[in-house]
Amino acid sequence: MHCPFCGAAETKVIDSRLVAEGDQVRRRRECLSCKERFTTYESAELLMPRVIKQDGTRQPFDDQKLRSGITKALEKRPVSVEEIESAINAIKYRLRATGEREIKSINIGEEVMCELRRLDQVAYVRFASVYRSFQDINEFREEIDRLANNGATPTTSA
Ligand SMILES: [Zn+2]
Repeated sequence: MHCPFCGAAETKVIDSRLVAEGDQVRRRRECLSCKERFTTYESAELLMPRVIKQDGTRQPFDDQKLRSGITKALEKRPVSVEEIESAINAIKYRLRATGEREIKSINIGEEVMCELRRLDQVAYVRFASVYRSFQDINEFREEIDRLANNGATPTTSA
C-alpha cells in the first residue's frame, strides 16, 4: 500500500505479529522514501448475512451497531472489553453458521440476549427490557423473578 505520509508506492514491513487472539495481523511498515513508519491491521472479511428489519427492509450487517448495543447494556458493569469482543465474535460466528443469506434483526437480538445472559444478568435485563419490549409488565416481572431465583440480583432501574 502507498505511504500515507508522502504517497510513495514502496513500503516495507518491519514487524508483523498476530493480535486479537490470532484473528488479526498487525504490521509495522516503513516508507522507503520518507522513512515514516505506520501500522496496518489485516483481518479476514467474512461474509455476514444481510439483516431483515422489522419493517421488511434489508440492510448490511452492522458490526458497529451490534457492538454499541452490547456496550450500552454493559455500561458500568464489571465486564472487560475482551469479554465483550469475544461475545461479539461468538454472535457473529453463530449468525454465519446458520448459513442463511438474510437474517431477521430479531434473531440477532436473541443472540445478543443469549450472550448478555451469560456475561451479566443486569445487562441482560437492561437489553431485554428495551429490545424485547416485554408484551406487558407481568412478562417483565416473570423474567426478573426467574433471574432472582437463579441467584442473580434483579434490577428495575434500567
Ligand atoms: Zn513516505
